[in-house]
Amino acid sequence: MQGLSRLTSPGVLARIKMENKTPGRHWGRELFCTVEDSGFCTVKESVIVLTKVPRGTRDILPGDIETWQFFEEKVRELCRLFGYSEIRTPIFEHTELFLRGVGEVTDIVAKEMYTFTDRGDRSLTLRPEGTASVARAYAEHKLYGDAQPIKVYYIGPMFRYDRPQAGRYRQFHQFGVEVFGTSEPTLDAEVMALSLVFFRSLGLTEFTLEINSVGCPQCRRAYRDKLQEELKEKVDGLCPDCADRYDKNPLRILDCKNNKCQDITGDAPLMLGSLCGECDEHFTAVQEAMDALGEQYVVNPRLVRGLDYYTKTAFEIVSPVLGAQSSIGGGGRYDQLLSTIGGPDVPGIGFAIGIERVLLALEAAGTLPEAGGVLDVYVATAGAVPAPVALRLAMDLRGAGLAAEKDYLGRSLKAQMKYADKKQAKFLVILGDEEMQRGQATVRDMKDGSQQDVALADLVGYLAGQVKEAK
Ligand SMILES: [Zn+2]
Ligand SMILES: [Zn+2]
Repeated sequence: MQGLSRLTSPGVLARIKMENKTPGRHWGRELFCTVEDSGFCTVKESVIVLTKVPRGTRDILPGDIETWQFFEEKVRELCRLFGYSEIRTPIFEHTELFLRGVGEVTDIVAKEMYTFTDRGDRSLTLRPEGTASVARAYAEHKLYGDAQPIKVYYIGPMFRYDRPQAGRYRQFHQFGVEVFGTSEPTLDAEVMALSLVFFRSLGLTEFTLEINSVGCPQCRRAYRDKLQEELKEKVDGLCPDCADRYDKNPLRILDCKNNKCQDITGDAPLMLGSLCGECDEHFTAVQEAMDALGEQYVVNPRLVRGLDYYTKTAFEIVSPVLGAQSSIGGGGRYDQLLSTIGGPDVPGIGFAIGIERVLLALEAAGTLPEAGGVLDVYVATAGAVPAPVALRLAMDLRGAGLAAEKDYLGRSLKAQMKYADKKQAKFLVILGDEEMQRGQATVRDMKDGSQQDVALADLVGYLAGQVKEAK
């Protein structure tokens, strides 16, 4: 700390981490010493509670995980029907992949990435989205050499340094699909339809599919010039974000939620009016395929999506369930992505759905399934029956495919029964002194309270039959 006065360049000078332990409570402190422009040094202190997750992350606990598993089961079930296989890629990649693949001017890359240098001096980034990684894997493993198209799906965590709010986390989770190898328009319709069927299978009914075409590099370049020309005199009236976008990514000004920006762009030319012949034909064919499926959609000519790599079809599923019309999923075609990252010139399309947001929407819509008990049999002991007898029975029941549990806390019979009830056990077995002497145990059906004495030798077979019947 003594050298502080000699340093005059602004910025964070030091982060000093201290840890301390007091009985019963673990905590740590961090000191930020910052040299200000004035040359003065400010010291800020923040307390890190060691028993608290980092901001923007959370644990998924038993009791909550069941809804995640319900979601994931639906994913696997539907993806199988639509011909998708699962793909798992690393959660970090070379930073360059996202700079090139997602685009340096996007908010994600410019403001939100978790980038770090590893001990080998490589710049790595926790994946902020799934598509770039999957495209990288497709190129790396030469999947273009296999029969096309390649249809894959993923479920996993993504990382963005964003302001945490309801349903938005810094470590969040996405389910996504990607298809490579064709730009045939019925595929676009099928991918969009899959997302709709998926939401319906979860029990969600209130949502709208919005679609647009963002064109190809050829027609978009001409449109971009036209849009910049139109907005040239009005840049000063735009919000700071959009003023910044004017040079880098003017299309995104169109979907700004700021009222002033919406007024200014009210009469601006739209991409749909500037599509080239090929893009226009493709967009018409996609809509015809959706019509043939009987799926409803709204053409939203201002829909742009935040990522650079989209071409032609772009879509979003919006729902009022979380207040206003907010996005619960979206995607589009990315015919240039693979060649952009150094892969072959192969087209692709996909979507991603934010799991936290959708689970919130399901909760708000009241369509989450009730978590049922998973315990088939609880083995209780009474009197002087030794604990290993209950352990042996529980093991035998598990061997027969039944979910079985016993007491580990030396509880009274009454307390054991209460526990079995709390855990929603379907059957309770009571091993008591008298019954054991007769070579029997008491089986209680927890649903109707009826009891039956069953010979110990028949116990496992009897319970297996009862549980099967109850299912
Ligand atoms: Zn075009
Ligand atoms: Zn704006």
